[in-house]
Amino acid sequence: MSLPTTALDIAEAVQTGSASARTIIDAAISRIEAHDAAITAFEDVRADQARAMADAVDARIASGDTNLPLAGVPVAVKDCIAVAGEPMTCGSRILEGYVCPFSATAIERLVNAGAVLLGRTRCDEFAMGSSTEHCVSGPVSNPWATDRVPGGSSGGSAAAVAAGFVPVALGTDTGGSIRQPAALCGITGFKPSQGRVPRWGQVSFAPSMDQIGPFTRTAADAAAVMQVISGHDERDATSAADALGMIDLDGDLSGLRIGITKEHRSDDNHPAVNAAVDAAADTCRDLGATIVDVSLKATDLGIACYYVIGPAEASSNLARFDGVRYGRRAAGSSDLAEMYERSRTEGFGPEARRRIVLGTWVLSAGYYDAYYNRALKVRRLISNEYTAQFANVDLLLGPTTPAPAFRKGAISDPVSMYLCDRYTVTANIAGLCGCSIPFGMAQDDDDTLPVGVQLLGPVLGDATVLRAAHVLQSASTHHLAQPVMA
Ligand code: GLN
Repeated sequence: MSLPTTALDIAEAVQTGSASARTIIDAAISRIEAHDAAITAFEDVRADQARAMADAVDARIASGDTNLPLAGVPVAVKDCIAVAGEPMTCGSRILEGYVCPFSATAIERLVNAGAVLLGRTRCDEFAMGSSTEHCVSGPVSNPWATDRVPGGSSGGSAAAVAAGFVPVALGTDTGGSIRQPAALCGITGFKPSQGRVPRWGQVSFAPSMDQIGPFTRTAADAAAVMQVISGHDERDATSAADALGMIDLDGDLSGLRIGITKEHRSDDNHPAVNAAVDAAADTCRDLGATIVDVSLKATDLGIACYYVIGPAEASSNLARFDGVRYGRRAAGSSDLAEMYERSRTEGFGPEARRRIVLGTWVLSAGYYDAYYNRALKVRRLISNEYTAQFANVDLLLGPTTPAPAFRKGAISDPVSMYLCDRYTVTANIAGLCGCSIPFGMAQDDDDTLPVGVQLLGPVLGDATVLRAAHVLQSASTHHLAQPVMA
């Protein structure tokens, strides 16, 4: 008998007893053992603990517990989200040896819902990057072409779902780190509205833009995970008051107005990216939506704004990693200042250091107004433009990334790397929700690579985005394509 592969099918099989949580987790572990050497999505696989968790889920089912919406669903967790008693490094040398004293809210909720935590996935250091090449333990490979990047910063989580190791992985998205790797790996990635998922237990990068969210194969699975992990938590004062509740995913798109942002339809995009957006727009139209052209003039300001606000917040948040409060301490210093300096220099990699220096600069007395305050004004401009758009349309549709997955090592200049996120950062700046779904393939040299499109919704419009993504997937087959694993 073949085992179910989506989260919803697994949960149903485990709830009804047609498969045990233990069988599901054993199959996931075997697949990782067979194939992860070529992908290195995982930082570690906690096979024994996962088997014990699966047995506990089976025991809860046997004892009549019917409140397990994610019963037996294997979940991989980005290495910047805390799991009690487990190591967490954020892809950084500075957190070598660190063990989490508590679990993130999202983790607690997943475990209560019956999910089985399978291990940590590799990410760019402190979630800064678009390729998962900046991870102290090494890069992750794209399952569609192993000499290419999976995107970043949650590249390990995206690759783990794309490779069929797990049906669900958690990532974080501060400027695109769920949607961009989802697009490059041909899977579904959902970035919740700011505040939807409590950030408690997620290592802060830029908290005004950070959100935890799911990678899945289908939008229906993403909705199922969101129903579990969303909702207020008093330990995160910025978390939204309401949980997402049950989302009615059925129906078509009639009555919905969907805007296509003309600034995102660029000749600089890979032709297959523009073709995917056209195909998605046609499908939306066939499903009853009205497609309208919209303009977001502030699009071009997104990257500059993000790379002032993001580093500013990061420089402040990363100050705690100093070898005293957190982080490994450099040995052999003769005074305190030298110890701080050496611990931070040895502990942080080049990209984290670059962001700390940038952020410290834009917050410094002489430059605060010129950079940080100005970026906040641009943030308001971008938010206002979106608010005006969402008075006319329910959703926006566009490319997730300008191009499909690039080769490892192909982008070495930081600004070129930052520009990979030009279609994703504005959603974080404005607090919007967004979902990337695969919608076509690109031919690039000898490789056939997935291409993603992005649906954006207004702040707290998560249910509409998830429903539209699901309806699009119900009417198409792009999300069913899977890489052939060596
Ligand atoms: N790639 C972006 C950056 O480097 C986004 C990162 C993220 O969303 N965590 O900052």
